[in-house]
Amino acid sequence: MEISEAQILIVDDDRMNREILFRHLINLGYTNISLADSGKTGLEIVDAQPIDLILLDMMMPVMNGLEMLVRLKSNQKSRVIPTIIISALDEKEMMLSSIQNGAEDYLIKPYDRFLLKTRVSACLEKKLLYDREALNKKKLEVAYEELALAYYQLEIVKNELDALSHRDGLTGISNRRYFDTVLEREWNAAKRERKNLSLILFDIDYFKKYNDTYGHLAGDDCLCQVAGTASQVVKRPRDTLARYGGEEFAVILPDTDALGASFCAEGIRDRIESLHIHHIASQIHPYVTVSVGVSSINPHLEVAISQQLIKEADLALYEAKREGRNCVKVWSNKGR
Ligand code: GH3
Ligand code: MG
Ligand code: MG
Repeated sequence: MEISEAQILIVDDDRMNREILFRHLINLGYTNISLADSGKTGLEIVDAQPIDLILLDMMMPVMNGLEMLVRLKSNQKSRVIPTIIISALDEKEMMLSSIQNGAEDYLIKPYDRFLLKTRVSACLEKKLLYDREALNKKKLEVAYEELALAYYQLEIVKNELDALSHRDGLTGISNRRYFDTVLEREWNAAKRERKNLSLILFDIDYFKKYNDTYGHLAGDDCLCQVAGTASQVVKRPRDTLARYGGEEFAVILPDTDALGASFCAEGIRDRIESLHIHHIASQIHPYVTVSVGVSSINPHLEVAISQQLIKEADLALYEAKREGRNCVKVWSNKGR
């Protein structure tokens, strides 16, 4: 905004004074000038429209200039409007009081036109500068808010992507990649805290025949039911059930010994059998069953790598298959 477009308010109870000041300002190039004949009308104008400068007469009936000034400065919106007091009184006390109450300047009637011009333009320049700074501050605040929101949304998307990258697309349980991460983490924690760590591997019996008999889609559905049922058995927050391979699943059980893990394994085997999913091609049972292998480390035993735990659970699973399927075998560590 140009300085000449500034909104100026003249408050004076004397019509002649208002007109003289009005003409002066017009001659100086200002075009947006409002007039008020009392403090009350002045305050109403300030409330209703944006004002950049107030020229305020001191001696007025009902509400004098100083009273209006106090009202202006006690209001959040109007306190930033520069106000020049114009008075016929050349009194030091009055001048001092005006400045103390927030007047920008003080002019004594009859005022010098050049002095008026200089004071008005100085006040308006200050006001324009203030407005520009306030606008920039507002813009900056909005930009910060937008940035904070964008960060927040990014964080949500990142978390969702993270969670998705851990999931198996078919069953919704953890995938192999996440299983590897968790096993490594829990392996290190078990060594550090000298606690047990157990692993269960289970595999659907005669699943190839199931697919051949009922079709691949029914096979997929069976995998989902098996995963859902196992997840109901695996309850502790730190336990991790994952899809290890095609029809093979794994459960990581931190702080659990072989006995506890074999209970959990038996629970999984039993609950899956109890689903009563028909499997007429199974050579051992009328329903879908699983074979389960369990391995466990104990902190007092030196085992070099986490892969050892997988290898041993796999050997136990193989033994369960060999011994007729639909059973649980626990790896015996006598051989270590
Ligand atoms: P065993 O009792 O010895 O475990 O025999 P099996 O037939 O279950 O084992 P095998 O390894 O011979 O066959 C596994 C089958 O699992 C073969 C494959 O088609 C099926 N399979 C693997 N992944 C999926 C899948 O995502 N969906 C379906 N429907 N089938 C799958
Ligand atoms: Mg199988
Ligand atoms: Mg298999």
